[in-house]
Amino acid sequence: MSYSSKSPWVIHYDASSCNGCDIEVLASLTPLFDVERFGIINTGNPKHADVFLVTGSVNERNITTLQQIYEQMLEPKVVIACGICACTGGVFKECYNTLGGVDVAIPVDVYAPGCAIRPEAIIDAVVRGLGVLEQKRQALAAGELKPILLPEGVSAADKLLNGTSLRSQAQQATLDAIAGVSQTPAGTSVQAARGKKIAKGASARTAQTTESTENASASTEDKE
Ligand code: SF4
Repeated sequence: MSYSSKSPWVIHYDASSCNGCDIEVLASLTPLFDVERFGIINTGNPKHADVFLVTGSVNERNITTLQQIYEQMLEPKVVIACGICACTGGVFKECYNTLGGVDVAIPVDVYAPGCAIRPEAIIDAVVRGLGVLEQKRQALAAGELKPILLPEGVSAADKLLNGTSLRSQAQQATLDAIAGVSQTPAGTSVQAARGKKIAKGASARTAQTTESTENASASTEDKE
């Protein structure tokens, strides 16, 4: 077993969590759960980290940061989606600016659902991630691990909005099996979904505007 498996360093990023899952990540570092006893250390430097813990859903503002952190981490590396928001978008899934779970931006190795995810589940996910990390380390040593190239720079969101997803069919099946969470139907582009939301938002705004216009005319009539 390698040093990285014995003493994995973890970097945590709050994508757009409600802070519930972040508190649980912090709880897992406190003496009660004490992940450091497994050699796990929380680092702020992506270049030092083996495991990327992400909480919260991905939106158009944080997708670039998420991808930059991922790309700065050296291979082998493992990504863990902590909490249902990171797995699928969760309660934020239908928000106008939400693109989805972490796997719309970067490949995810371990899905750890929960709302909020419990510290025990985080520790379990990290341990599962260590198994993947070891497999990747061996593949890297054998020259079989090819880096996954992410969509580039500012065009990343555009590509994703056009329906590109880094979620494999196997990952999708796993997610479908988890708590029966409903997913975006295969082939439905995120852009189409967003289009509907924008349309919904636009019609809500139009209704609001009409109402305010009517109120304004009513008050003008009152004055007259
Ligand atoms: S999974 Fe629940 S607790 Fe965690 S970020 Fe989402 S809403 Fe908050």
